[in-house]
Amino acid sequence: MRILLAILALFLGISITSKADDRPNIVFVFSDDHAPHAIGAYDGWLKSVNPTPEIDELAADGMLFQNSFCTNSICGPSRAVIQTGKHSHKNGFMNNGNSFDWNQQTFPKLLKKVGYQTALYGKSHLKGHPQGYDDWMVLPGQGLYYNPDFITPEGKKRIDGHCTDVVTDLAVQWLKEKREDGKPFMLMVQHKAPHRNWMPAERHLHLYDDIEMPEPTTLFDRWEDNTLAAKYQELEVDGHMHINHDLFLDLTPDFDDDKELKTDKSAFRNLQRMSPTQVKAWRDAYGPKDEAFHKANLSGDDLVRWKYQRYAKNYLRCVKGVDESVGRLRDVLAELELDDNTVVIYSSDQGFYIGDHGWYDKRWMYEESFKMPLIVNWPGVTDGGSVNMELVQNIDYAPTFLAMAGADIPEDIQGKSLVPLLKKQQEGKFRDAVYYHYYEYPSVHMVPRHYGIRTDRYKLMKFYQFGEQWEMYDLEKDPDELTNIYETADKELVDGMKKKLEDLRVHYDDNSHEPEYPLEKKKGFWPTFAK
Ligand code: CA
Repeated sequence: MRILLAILALFLGISITSKADDRPNIVFVFSDDHAPHAIGAYDGWLKSVNPTPEIDELAADGMLFQNSFCTNSICGPSRAVIQTGKHSHKNGFMNNGNSFDWNQQTFPKLLKKVGYQTALYGKSHLKGHPQGYDDWMVLPGQGLYYNPDFITPEGKKRIDGHCTDVVTDLAVQWLKEKREDGKPFMLMVQHKAPHRNWMPAERHLHLYDDIEMPEPTTLFDRWEDNTLAAKYQELEVDGHMHINHDLFLDLTPDFDDDKELKTDKSAFRNLQRMSPTQVKAWRDAYGPKDEAFHKANLSGDDLVRWKYQRYAKNYLRCVKGVDESVGRLRDVLAELELDDNTVVIYSSDQGFYIGDHGWYDKRWMYEESFKMPLIVNWPGVTDGGSVNMELVQNIDYAPTFLAMAGADIPEDIQGKSLVPLLKKQQEGKFRDAVYYHYYEYPSVHMVPRHYGIRTDRYKLMKFYQFGEQWEMYDLEKDPDELTNIYETADKELVDGMKKKLEDLRVHYDDNSHEPEYPLEKKKGFWPTFAK
């Protein structure tokens, strides 16, 4: 069609302008630590509180990927995988302590080469100035929830407001003022929320005040069937979630009086940046709740339940801001008449434990943190409300964006384009198994290194730092992964999974080092907080 238009234009003596470019725009909305089970459309146990009406609407208009996974469940590495379409051991960003080599091949650079205008706003978490973007403004490191600073090509800049709103504003402003008419674009809107420590916007501070959050069935899991790794972690709501740092108990201080800051001051830097109005809203929201908590004098399981309630509510209040951002961005696309030719994608860098297994945080290959939300609305291509069950991973995002733009996919990209799935043109299985490798140990939360594979039905995990330890689960019979069948399952089945794992390690060329750690050095990286 484009060739015909070109011939016609030649014949009529007019030049083809970029207006004839019908390649889709891409708006990639990406949050931090938003677990699929905290999205209504994913039908998880938090669905009853209706946490995400706007994201649910996106799913109702597009395709939801039910079996979408990360390759390495932690912030920076997931982003590096998305930039490159390659596993962590190939892109070099294996844990949050690494720096990303921005000089390497990334998908935004390749999109620019084929004529896309590119922009990035919000959390990058990859250190250094982003490359491959015409416009960008990123949070330094984890960034702040209230009145955040941004790194810009011109230097550091503070913008007042709640981070989720500020990032959305920057994206909207770019769409309205910096976008070039007639040129396809790729815009990344990357929210800090709902990352720890969970600080909702002023308007959401009282959301869910009147309800009890449903509890996960595994809130009091004691990891009886797991290997040593699960017993040595430090991410328990009970023992490790800090009641001041994470839950803001008694943090409604008069900011002139340092004595009221009861613990590590670094945790409260953000509270100290707040405006008097923001402080007042915060104090009004948490003051009475803190008072009630002290009166109740809770201990044991009751205290865990209280911590879980406060945590889940703040987490979902932060999610609410992200959800509103998705709605606002879609409204602006419609207002600018871009909605018909813009693919809107919602995803988050990994899943998260919202009290599941008694935990918060991520890192594990267990389902709650291994899964990533992935919802794609490609107008005219995806069927509204469709659900895809194929095994997909964040290595697939880069080749998908390139395929959408009609660009060549370089051979060294390890992922596969999802376009055949989106177009319902996939013949046969997309993939047999997904591969995972987590590296950040010893480090905060003390989740040991492990790798593994997951098929439609089974998951095999190998922990290798203090002897060789295996876990295997039948996800059909045991979706919560409470019964380790590694020793009891049919030997042929276990051997088949082990062979598949080795095959994938060869396929993805993962020979990454397997350091061992003596057992006695393992505990205590993250201080255990008083309960
Ligand atoms: Ca994250």
